[in-house]
Formats: sequence, structure tokens, C-alpha cells
Amino acid sequence: MSSRSRRRRALAVAPTATCPCGEPATYADGCGRLHAGAAAATPAELMRSRYAAFVVRDRDHLLRTWSSAQRPGRLDFDDALRWTGLEILGSTGGTAFHSTGTVEFRAHFEYRGVAGVHQENSLFVREDGRWVYDRAIEPGE
Ligand SMILES: [Zn+2]
Repeated sequence: MSSRSRRRRALAVAPTATCPCGEPATYADGCGRLHAGAAAATPAELMRSRYAAFVVRDRDHLLRTWSSAQRPGRLDFDDALRWTGLEILGSTGGTAFHSTGTVEFRAHFEYRGVAGVHQENSLFVREDGRWVYDRAIEPGE
């Protein structure tokens, strides 16, 4: 077993634990389903699962739910960074009749013990019928 898989296992959330994204569900019934490969019904659901993937360090989920145009070649997690909560502020589009959608969110974190917040309005697109994250929309865009 590599050190990487040991570390990932140690950080995994128990299936019966509350989902890290804050929704009132267990991890197994919430974002854990998407981490196991289920498709997100909406961009907001995918957004939650991507936040939760940063918490549990599910690199595979993050990379496979990134658009092919924007997906980074590699993704590293910072041990000094701890995600502490997610707020969904709003969303547009993203229904079965749309090919794009946006989700605005605030992700709270602690970096070396100092609290911070990352706010972003994210663009999601459909690829092969599945919602994927594309990029952050710049203010005024
Ligand atoms: Zn969740």
C-alpha cells in the first residue's frame, strides 16, 4: 500500500457520519454516492460533492468532475488547509433543460489556524450528459 492511499483512507469520512457539505444526510446517502460514481442531478449537487471531495481529499472525484477544457494536470492538497463549512448562496440554470448552470458559494476554511472564506460563482457545463465544473466566473463577466 502506498503512503498516499494510507493518508487518503485516514481522512475518509465514515458512511454514517453527517455529510461534510452540511446537507442533512449521511455521507453515504449524500456526497458519498457521487464520490462512488453516481451522476449529479444539478450543478448545486455537484458543487456540494466537490466541496466534500476537498474535505475527504477525493482527488479522483475532483478531476473527473472537471471539464476537459479546464481540468488541471495534477491536483495537490495542502496539509495546512482545513475546510470548515459550505454555504450555497444561489444558482442559475442547471435544470434538465439547460446545458449550463452557475452556483455561487462560500467555502469556509482555516489555513494554519486562521479562518478565511473563498467565495466563487462557478460555471458548470454538461459533458457527455453529466454536469462538470468548468471554472470561476470573473466578477462583471
Ligand atoms: Zn454532501
